[in-house]
Amino acid sequence: MPNLSDKPKQSIPKELRYSVKDFNNEFPNDDACLRYIAEQRYPNGVAYCKQCKVERKHYRVGNRTAFACDHCGHHIYPLKGTIFEKSSTSLRLWFYSMYLMGSTRCGISAKQIQREAGVTYKTAWRMFHQIRSLLSDEDLQLEGPTVEIDETYMGGRRKGQRGRPMRGDLVKTPVVAIVQRKGKVIAKAVKDVTKKTVYPLIRKHVVPESVIYTDEFPTYDNVSKIKLLGGTGGTPANYKHDTIRHADGVYVRGDVHTNSVEGFWMLIKTGIRGVYHSVSVKYLQNYLDEYSFRYNRRHMGNQQFRSILERAVLKAR
Ligand SMILES: [Zn+2]
Repeated sequence: MPNLSDKPKQSIPKELRYSVKDFNNEFPNDDACLRYIAEQRYPNGVAYCKQCKVERKHYRVGNRTAFACDHCGHHIYPLKGTIFEKSSTSLRLWFYSMYLMGSTRCGISAKQIQREAGVTYKTAWRMFHQIRSLLSDEDLQLEGPTVEIDETYMGGRRKGQRGRPMRGDLVKTPVVAIVQRKGKVIAKAVKDVTKKTVYPLIRKHVVPESVIYTDEFPTYDNVSKIKLLGGTGGTPANYKHDTIRHADGVYVRGDVHTNSVEGFWMLIKTGIRGVYHSVSVKYLQNYLDEYSFRYNRRHMGNQQFRSILERAVLKAR
């Protein structure tokens, strides 16, 4: 049994709490949400005006989502390029969905928001999906000194059905997770768990000289021989690799264990089983990103919401 010493703290320091009441106070309506987005993108209302070719103060245009240059009147649109731009769903509902996503540990289902907000399941699902799509920590580097790597298989499996799998049936997908002890996680859905697929991930996310713990799965055999640039030439990454022999029933040998990554699997599998029931291959990476995003910010308390909001506002295309 993995110990869950790395699991998120249950009690959140006061200054990190952000309740539904706080949310309602800060974002009572669509207008407040729009102003928030505008302020994030154009602090103090100052933005570059294409027409004037300088930074200008902008002011809100009536009830519209536009802001106008106070010199020439040229319009800018703070929702442009964001996930909100072409949506007919109210901004406040978008914000509330992000709030819910940032307040849960186990995930939140489209059903829940459908019930609470009275939108259709399809709308709720699409909203969550778009929020999730912003949450990947693609270039995250795990700073060591100790990381654990493990693989598992996820995604739905047909239950109670017999016969040949049909098109669209759910199949298991391999997932590799790299967890920095007491730190962050990278989780990737991969096409297979060969060295060719897994080593580039290690090289990308684990800093040289790190100590890497895995189980005895053969893919990890040559982890200590990984080169910085891939291939056989080049500088070695100098990973120090040690394995724990789960096959022998050994789970902890001193510092050698994979409890952190096992804890992560438990969190995500419990969540997916409980909240989403199953996840299709197509969207698995999105769910992995959602869980990793929260895991990586687990000490931030409900300020996770702020962090999701930041992605939605500033990751404008
Ligand atoms: Zn202007």
